[in-house]
Amino acid sequence: MLPGTLAGQFRPDEMEIDLNRLAVSAGAALILGDVTGVDWNQRTLHFADSNSIRFEAMSIGVGSVPAEINNIHSEQVVPVKPMQTFLKRLAVRFDKTIPRPGGQLQITIIGGGVAGIEIALCLLTGLRFELQFIKVSIRILTADDDIAKELPAPARQKLNRILATRGIEVISKTRVSEITESGVNACDGRSYDSDCVIWAVGAIAPPVVSRLGLPLDDRGFILTKSTLQSVADLPVFAVGDAGTIVGSTSPKAGVYAVRQSPILWHNLQALLADKPLIEFRPQRSFMKLLNTGDGKALLQYKNVSIHARWCWTLKTWIDRRFLRPFRV
Ligand SMILES: Cc1cc2nc3c(=O)[nH]c(=O)nc-3n(C[C@H](O)[C@H](O)[C@H](O)COP(=O)(O)OP(=O)(O)OC[C@H]3O[C@@H](n4cnc5c(N)ncnc54)[C@H](O)[C@@H]3O)c2cc1C
Repeated sequence: MLPGTLAGQFRPDEMEIDLNRLAVSAGAALILGDVTGVDWNQRTLHFADSNSIRFEAMSIGVGSVPAEINNIHSEQVVPVKPMQTFLKRLAVRFDKTIPRPGGQLQITIIGGGVAGIEIALCLLTGLRFELQFIKVSIRILTADDDIAKELPAPARQKLNRILATRGIEVISKTRVSEITESGVNACDGRSYDSDCVIWAVGAIAPPVVSRLGLPLDDRGFILTKSTLQSVADLPVFAVGDAGTIVGSTSPKAGVYAVRQSPILWHNLQALLADKPLIEFRPQRSFMKLLNTGDGKALLQYKNVSIHARWCWTLKTWIDRRFLRPFRV
């Protein structure tokens, strides 16, 4: 629902879960802190600025971060992850850059995957409504030769048409070399003036994962068995974007994170009770619904892609139904 919130379709609180209340209702303790490392011998978890805690079993779900972000240092850049703080960080950037009425606001989104596209389309809707006397322009810059390369050709063609109709320029086969005060410099020598750069390139593991001493895949995610337990044979599971099942080619998507929860819940209890663990079998494909910010969504499933108003209604119904049990 984050893109829909950017478009002004939902209030931010409509897409949020009150973790404090949820934890209390589940009989769990919620600690807000930055995990910095773990001592497997002592079974102790360390935080940046709170006391360490001991554990018997652990599940890691620290998600992912956009690739290459560690090499780009500029206050102009707003990484899309962590998503939980994206709206706040974007607002801080806009506070510094919104021009006077009659001026121009130029935004460059780095990354032409579905996340970058949804953000471009929805942000444009929201800003054009909010900033009626400012000329807002958004461009997407991608190193690939086309956008949304994970989608089949008909869906990609539809998205290219939607972007063109909305006036969002797509610059392909272009890799960023540097972000400066005035904008984005590309490896081919071209420059793109930008007041704000949104970083939405493919996902890699957050830095903390490399400090845990666990076996990792080639993008730095924690390698697990199909039971979601680390291949290191420690009492530790890795779920959501943070974990990769050996041999699995599933993309990093919330759909898998959600479907893993009942397996994780079963296996955590089974591990502690010395009982057999069960396997997670990821589904091969899933329906994708992209909010295009114009009251419609693009539905893509197997060979079918449809861009329509009812697809947005379906998406919103699914999203709200998912949230309901967590809004205790
Ligand atoms: C714009 C956008 C739209 C998307 N739309 C969809 C969609 O429609 N469908 C879909 O299936 N997927 C979608 N995705 C992908 C989806 O968001 C992720 O796959 C999903 O959030 C992964 O869930 P997760 O729980 O593994 O990680 P996250 O949701 O990223 O959560 C990770 C958590 O770990 C915390 N954390 C990180 N490091 C530390 C640390 N050192 N110490 C303590 N805590 C830490 C973070 O603060 C965060 O709370 C979208 C992604 C983007 C960017």
